[in-house]
Amino acid sequence: MSVPNYVFFRGRVVPYSDVKFGVLTHALNYGTAVFGGLRAYWNADEKQLFVFRPSDHFRRFLQSTKLMCMDLPSSGEELLKGLIDLIRAEGYKEDLYIRPLAFDADEIIGVRLHDLHPEVSIVVIPFGNYNKNEEGMHVTVSSWRRVDDNSIPARGKIAGAYVNSAFVKTDALRAGFDEAIVLNADGHISEGSAANFFLMRNGVFATPPITDNVLEGITRRTVMQLLRDELKTEVQERQIDRTELYLADEAFFCGTGAQISAITRVDYRPIGTGQLGAVTARLRAIFFDVVRGRIAKYRSWCCPVYESKQTATTKERSRVTVE
Ligand code: PMP
Repeated sequence: MSVPNYVFFRGRVVPYSDVKFGVLTHALNYGTAVFGGLRAYWNADEKQLFVFRPSDHFRRFLQSTKLMCMDLPSSGEELLKGLIDLIRAEGYKEDLYIRPLAFDADEIIGVRLHDLHPEVSIVVIPFGNYNKNEEGMHVTVSSWRRVDDNSIPARGKIAGAYVNSAFVKTDALRAGFDEAIVLNADGHISEGSAANFFLMRNGVFATPPITDNVLEGITRRTVMQLLRDELKTEVQERQIDRTELYLADEAFFCGTGAQISAITRVDYRPIGTGQLGAVTARLRAIFFDVVRGRIAKYRSWCCPVYESKQTATTKERSRVTVE
C-alpha cells in the first residue's frame, strides 16, 4: 500500500511526510489513541463521491475520545470540513476508506489518560473489499474472548483494544478461516474482529445488544433500519448463544470495512444451505444502492464531496451536523 499524498493535521491539509512523531509517543507505547473508519463511495452516474454517514462517524469518534479523557483541539464540524478538503486535495474519484485518528502525542514515560495532549489526523486511501469472500465466509468461533466493558470498553474505537481483535484475526486466518466470531467472557456472541454480527432464525434477525461488549456500529444501525423498513423483517437486539449459530438460516457481519459479509459456514458446519442466503443477498443489494446515494429516502446519509450540478453540495452538506 502506498502512503497518502496528504494528511489533515492540526486543522490543515499538509503533505503526509510533514507529520512525524518520535518513538516515545504515548499512544505508540500505551495504545492511548482512538480511531474512526468511514467509507466514501463513488457514484459514476452522478460523477460524485459520497461519504457515508460522516456525522454519525464523527460523533462516535468524539465519544471515543471522551472515554479516553481527550480534550480535542478540533470539533466534529471542523473534522468534517477538513475531511472534504483532504479528499478534494487528493482528487480521488473512486471508493475510499477514511481513517481519523486521535492520539496522545506526549513523548513521556508514564501510563495514564489525564494531563496528556492529543493530536488529530485524517488520511484517506483508495479501498475495495476488506473481506475477500463477502458472499460466503467460513468463520470459526475464536478461542479468544472479547474485552469487557470493565477492562477496555468495546463501545469506543480504542487503539489499544484492537490487540484483542488482532489475536482473534491472526489465529483465525492461520487456521485457514476467513474470520472469527468472538464470545464474551460469559460465552455469548459479541461480534467479529472488526464487524458487528447478525443471524436469522425462522425469519427473525437477532444481533447482540450494545451492552454485550460490541462496538456501537453505524453499519449495524443502518442494517437494522433497512431490515425493518425495506425488508419488513423483525430484528431483535438480544443475547445470542453460540449454538444458535449452528441452527441459523442466515448470518452476516456488517461494518464499514466488512460492508455486509455473508457467513455461510462456521467451523465446517453450513449455515442454512451453506450458500449466500436470499435475505442477506437482498439486503446487500439495497445497502450498496443506499451507500452510493441511489435511494432518495436515504440520501441524507450520503455527504457529497465535490461541487456538481446534480448535487447541491453546499445545501446537502449544511444538513450534515456533528455534535
Ligand atoms: N465492531 C468492531 C470491533 C469494529 O472495529 C467495527 C468497524 N468499525 C465494527 C464493529 C463496525 O462498526 P461500523 O459499522 O461503525 O464501521
